[in-house]
Amino acid sequence: MPSPVANTTAPRARFYAFGGSFGGLDFEPTYNFPTTNIISPFPPPPVNTIDWSNVGFRVREVALHYSVHTKKWTPPQFVADPYIRIHGMAPALNYGQQAYEGRKPSARPEYISCPPVPVEHFVNAVKATVSLNAEYVPPHETGAARYIRPQIYGSSGQLGLSPPEEYMFCVYVLPTGVYHGTHPVDALILDDFDRAAPNGTGSAKVGGNYAPVLRWSDKARTEGYGITLHLNSATHSEVDEFSTSGFIGALVDGDNVTLVVPDSKNVIKSVTADSITDIGKSFGWNLERRSIKYTELPNFSEVMAAGTTAALVPIRTISRCIDPSSPDSISAAVKQHPRLSSDKQAEKVNYIEESQEDAGPVCLKLLTQLKAIQLGKAKDEFGWCAPVTAEDGAKITGVPKATKGDGQTVDQLD
Ligand SMILES: *Cc1c(COP(=O)(O)O)cnc(C)c1O
Repeated sequence: MPSPVANTTAPRARFYAFGGSFGGLDFEPTYNFPTTNIISPFPPPPVNTIDWSNVGFRVREVALHYSVHTKKWTPPQFVADPYIRIHGMAPALNYGQQAYEGRKPSARPEYISCPPVPVEHFVNAVKATVSLNAEYVPPHETGAARYIRPQIYGSSGQLGLSPPEEYMFCVYVLPTGVYHGTHPVDALILDDFDRAAPNGTGSAKVGGNYAPVLRWSDKARTEGYGITLHLNSATHSEVDEFSTSGFIGALVDGDNVTLVVPDSKNVIKSVTADSITDIGKSFGWNLERRSIKYTELPNFSEVMAAGTTAALVPIRTISRCIDPSSPDSISAAVKQHPRLSSDKQAEKVNYIEESQEDAGPVCLKLLTQLKAIQLGKAKDEFGWCAPVTAEDGAKITGVPKATKGDGQTVDQLD
């Protein structure tokens, strides 16, 4: 079904690449806003074969891949097939030698004992992928976005637990809908399971950190919690991050706003959280990067989860299964607090009333500005935007002629 929002009078979709996780490359989210020349062949209008208002998270395209032989990365290649032929004994499949989506696969692949992808290759590959899939960028008005997923893994078949001979670096792009939306979600602290060892790989987006969390987050979801929160593994007394996103707390004192983010070495260095705190600073707000005690949670007026996919998600409540008489509890530390409630086995910090269906004012202001920059409605004073052109795709080998410009586009709908 064609998207109901696609019509001939709508402005041509602007082309923006949502490049959330490339913070360390000084690349940050990258966006390109072409001139509105209607006859310009690039970017092409979005295809009409996708219901853009309801895209979900299905993978649409592999864009290109890298493979390494003899200590060299090969030139990128365009692959219009999301399936990859890989040896069943690849360390990626057997030993979890895999990392994904930013966190600098180019700069910190040592986390999974992979060779680095040179920054220039990384950037070129991402830009080419975006360029070659330009017709799959969702129309502006839908609120859908383009997600970019770079990934790296050990790909050659072997039995031994030694670094493999071949590695693959791929960049996928896929359209995404709004994930959590701005509806506040209830969070549950996971006490029975630690996401990362105290001196482990918690700061890397490696597959091994995620698969074990799934059954816990799934269980929490069946209990009504939309998101799970991890405390530091060593003592469970400080806030680390959510299972999928960074933690941001807002201290509000009159007009004085302070954003607080954990400085734990076991959290993903979230580019979204960085962007949000930069935006906060541009509002004249304070920023504190420090350890956040679990018992501090009631002090925050608002808590947000920050990540590329969902941008900023407001947290309604944070619950923890802990006996309030335990010395580690908030109840023991602060006795009473208007945001705190407890029963025999659990305590809960409330940020957003049950009756309120929207985010708090701090979250809304930050999110509005972030979205405005992403959509080109607000000036990008941070230098986050980078152009993507047709030439970025033209450099790549293996581009089948049939992939570009031959589908019916939304401009051709009646
Ligand atoms: C992806 C992720 C984040 C957010 O990082 P971004 O760079 O903002 O996308 C935070 N925490 C965890 C555990 C993540 O997986």
